[in-house]
Amino acid sequence: MLAARHAFVESLPATCQVCAAWPAQPVCEACLRRFSPPRARCRACAAVLSDDLDLCGACLTRPDASAVAQCVAAVDYAYPWDGLIARFKFRSEPGWAKPFAQRLLQTPATLQLLQTRPLMVPIPLTAARLGERGYNQAWELVKALRAECRRHPPTLPCDTLATALVRLGETPDQHSLGREARLRNLRGVFAAHPSHIPRLVGRHVLLVDDVTTTGATLQTAAQALLHAGADRVSALVFARTPPSR
Ligand SMILES: [Zn+2]
Ligand SMILES: [Zn+2]
Repeated sequence: MLAARHAFVESLPATCQVCAAWPAQPVCEACLRRFSPPRARCRACAAVLSDDLDLCGACLTRPDASAVAQCVAAVDYAYPWDGLIARFKFRSEPGWAKPFAQRLLQTPATLQLLQTRPLMVPIPLTAARLGERGYNQAWELVKALRAECRRHPPTLPCDTLATALVRLGETPDQHSLGREARLRNLRGVFAAHPSHIPRLVGRHVLLVDDVTTTGATLQTAAQALLHAGADRVSALVFARTPPSR
């Protein structure tokens, strides 16, 4: 079933899934222009900015507290993206990773981040959720980004690590983590997997997720990576919750 639906999205030859225009990509060019216009976003949390500043008000008041050095988002978590992301996550349609990755790569800040040769790491699901869903949508995004980077010249080097992070307390794996690893992460639900720490030390790590709301998950994951020895952590998310009106 999963493979069949994946194939369905991959092979969508015909209609835009937003406006039903034909022929079109899964989201047609007109809908991309209409629903994902370029927006100035806060460098630290990707909140939409209404003025020329680099940081939003919240980040300006705590410039040193963020474990995430830079956060880039492609679209607002609003119509039609919320519905498409729901299909991506909850309706066994991992093929959406490709158009989402393509839209991310149209954001200049994404290219700038990738040109620093980061190690791309997905936000992990709990073991239970991964078992239900059958795939981690954040890892699907990482793989799609990697494929797009290779496909489109100039080729961007893409280093990825699927299991750099584990969720503590929510996965049987926690027993395989040493006491030290667990203590390091008492504050959060994430830990760097001990066997991958040598690959993290000194690296610029790029956390990838489908959606960020408050940024709390990204912050907690970034803290775990920094504790494991990462030099710097940035984040790439497809959609950012827009400001409440
Ligand atoms: Zn359309
Ligand atoms: Zn901000």
